[in-house]
Amino acid sequence: MYNIDNIEALARIIGKSRRVVLVGHVNPDGDSIGSLVGMKGYLEGLGLQVVPVVPNPYPEFLGFLDVEKRVLPYSEMPQEVRDAVAEADLIICMDFNSLKRIDSLGDIISTAAALKVLVDHHPQPDVIFDVKYSYPELSSTCELAYWLIKGLIEECGGFLPQESAVALYTGMMTDTNNFSNSVLPSTFRMAGELMELGVDKEWVQKMVFGGYSEERMRLMGHMLSSNMKIYPQYDAAVMVLTKEMKEKFNFRDGDSEGFVNLALNIRSVKVSAFFTEGDGFVRVSLRSKDDFSVNSLARAFFNGGGHERAAGGRLYMPVEKVEEYFVESLGKFVEAGK
Ligand code: 5GP
Ligand code: MN
Repeated sequence: MYNIDNIEALARIIGKSRRVVLVGHVNPDGDSIGSLVGMKGYLEGLGLQVVPVVPNPYPEFLGFLDVEKRVLPYSEMPQEVRDAVAEADLIICMDFNSLKRIDSLGDIISTAAALKVLVDHHPQPDVIFDVKYSYPELSSTCELAYWLIKGLIEECGGFLPQESAVALYTGMMTDTNNFSNSVLPSTFRMAGELMELGVDKEWVQKMVFGGYSEERMRLMGHMLSSNMKIYPQYDAAVMVLTKEMKEKFNFRDGDSEGFVNLALNIRSVKVSAFFTEGDGFVRVSLRSKDDFSVNSLARAFFNGGGHERAAGGRLYMPVEKVEEYFVESLGKFVEAGK
């Protein structure tokens, strides 16, 4: 059991709530969808009405966590999401801690009458939440949700349904990059307990890492052999995915998931950047090893944030300019840190 402070407060809030909206972040990943589906199952078992919402659709490969398509993307179903938020007496924000991470859904959430609870593992949370469960040391929001739910079961009863167990295991597994980052003894304890509850880890592994398209593999090969640039003066690597390349490789959402980690396998590389051209902005993904803080780098230069070794943001400039901007920013960042 990992000790979560003040579970009684959440238990009291849940005891008084009937309609709950669970909110996940933009471009939802495994930890986002896993934590929403995990919490939804537990709260529904207590008899609550639960609507999980996200700003935009999640990638196809996560569909196995949400077979009945209960997670509503605001971009596709704005009225349903607005109605659910308006009727809610409790809103739980999961796996993000700043309204900037939910795009235009931010206005609706911030002005909603419902009580707002944070369940998250990113540093430096915003102040808009009434109650915060913020544990940056934990591997994932799914791990936090697992320990919270265990505590809540003691306080309010209920149980963790099988599909929630699978969802929480999946999000923990993806957010740790398959048990390689931010893993604590508690993470393995959680994994062990979930296996004992019947989670088939090999099946999950197959659903997450064995369902990629041929195009993704070819794009990965292309990025590594022809696109990646190394800047030895900064121990840095950069890849830039343009719309043109997306078209060429028949890109589907999620196809470049994890590419940013690849460059860190090079011994000399300490910081890796992956830029993706989007509509009106360039998406930034940053990873590091040792003591390089990409959270600080993203906050200072990339309109974003995240964890110490995994962060992201957005750039509002033509995609042709981002590499030069990255190298300049890194120069300033390293200089300022000296
Ligand atoms: P990814 O590179 O997988 O998209 O994001 C890695 C981590 O960076 C996420 O878990 C999230 O914490 C953070 N992150 C990504 N994009 C943004 C952003 O636009 N703003 C902030 N504040 N954090 C981000
Ligand atoms: Mn996460």
